[in-house]
Amino acid sequence: EVSIFWFRRDLRLDDNVALYHALQSENPVIPLFIFDTDILESLPKNDARVGFIHESLQKINTQLNTIGSSLLIKKGKTSTVWESLLQEFAISAVYFNKDYEPYAIKRDLAIDALAKANHTLCFSFKDQVIFEENEITKADGLPYTIYTPYKNKWLEKYKSIASLVEYDTQSYFSNFHKNHFDFPSLQQIGFEESDIKVQPYNLTQIANYHETRDFPAIDSTSYLSPHLRFGTVSIRKLVNWAVCKNDVFLSELIWREFFMQILFNFPRVVSHNFKSAYDGIQWRNNEEDFKRWCTGTTGYPMVDAGMRQLNQTGYMHNRVRMVVASFLCKHLLINWQWGEAYFAEKLLDYDLSANIGNWQWAAGTGCDAAPYFRVFNPDIQLKKFDTKGIYIRKWIPEF
Ligand code: FAD
Repeated sequence: EVSIFWFRRDLRLDDNVALYHALQSENPVIPLFIFDTDILESLPKNDARVGFIHESLQKINTQLNTIGSSLLIKKGKTSTVWESLLQEFAISAVYFNKDYEPYAIKRDLAIDALAKANHTLCFSFKDQVIFEENEITKADGLPYTIYTPYKNKWLEKYKSIASLVEYDTQSYFSNFHKNHFDFPSLQQIGFEESDIKVQPYNLTQIANYHETRDFPAIDSTSYLSPHLRFGTVSIRKLVNWAVCKNDVFLSELIWREFFMQILFNFPRVVSHNFKSAYDGIQWRNNEEDFKRWCTGTTGYPMVDAGMRQLNQTGYMHNRVRMVVASFLCKHLLINWQWGEAYFAEKLLDYDLSANIGNWQWAAGTGCDAAPYFRVFNPDIQLKKFDTKGIYIRKWIPEF
């Protein structure tokens, strides 16, 4: 008999909660990753995120090889893959970390039912966040929809824990199943290398984060977002580190959890405005304007620089994301959902909860959002945050 640990948004061996518990079970653990064709089918063949996942899995596999184990990689519809895995192996239990997106919740419920029908146990754990689901609520038990009181409660709860436990998986590595599964190339998965790459994160450059984070010409943010998205870094390690380093940076990590709990508690935000009164807005939705916005040819330097940075690198600085999002909704009067979908296609750090939350914030239709009458002035933003025009000249050489 074996246990299976299923990697999803937690592509690391260290400080991984479900992996830790799997390795403590009595059976050897087969580590598994499934390339889910329901997700892959909609992506271009050179999608950089698939390349990053493949690269991260390769690193894990290399580590596993040193102890005589390897990753089992499958490709297909998750339910079909699980049906055949349950036939192929005598699986006593399946371990995975929770994912709070509506698609993932539905998928995991289906796999749980399938496992149960085969007398296999399924165990899921909190790993992706410090506080999940309904752990931070108002006194009446309802979820927070305003950030500041949410953050205060989050910090209060965090302080009551003293320090977060990190999970030492390494001591249990001998419990990995010994095997030699073939590791497929990216081409065998049906994808090819992209020119765009996820860059490593950098925690040394956030020393003056609270003063410099709004200036897109300065490299002073962490570039953690794709790593948090795919779990190549542990949130517990980060928070334990950030707590004694930089409060403003910690607040950003709390924004991430705020939007995750909003998505979990109000999944309708995926296709509706959080404030339903705004569902009736008659957007102008001019296709030509949208094309200019996408290609960075609106004639507004900060908007164009941001969109070109996004198109060329899969990343855009947060200040500029706010400017381009406000511009789309409030200058061009285009539905935020068009912008959200374009970001989803391009961003290496694309995350449903953060993208929806921030887009609705910018459009003024979300929870705790900028009011509809507050419009970012792209010229003033430029004068304030790129005074010398360094950022715009980098992305618009003809400027
Ligand atoms: P840092 O400034 O170093 O922040 C550290 C981490 O805190 C980030 O990696 C991220 O996990 C979290 N964080 C920071 N700001 C926010 C925020 N406003 N909301 C939620 N989490 C935050 N972030 C995503 O991860 N995925 C998205 O799809 C996404 N879409 C966005 C869309 C719009 C319109 C806007 C305005 C913002 C969006 N953001 C999104 C938030 C933010 O812009 C990025 O997280 C940040 O720019 C990533 O760079 P960094 O890792 O260097 O950030």
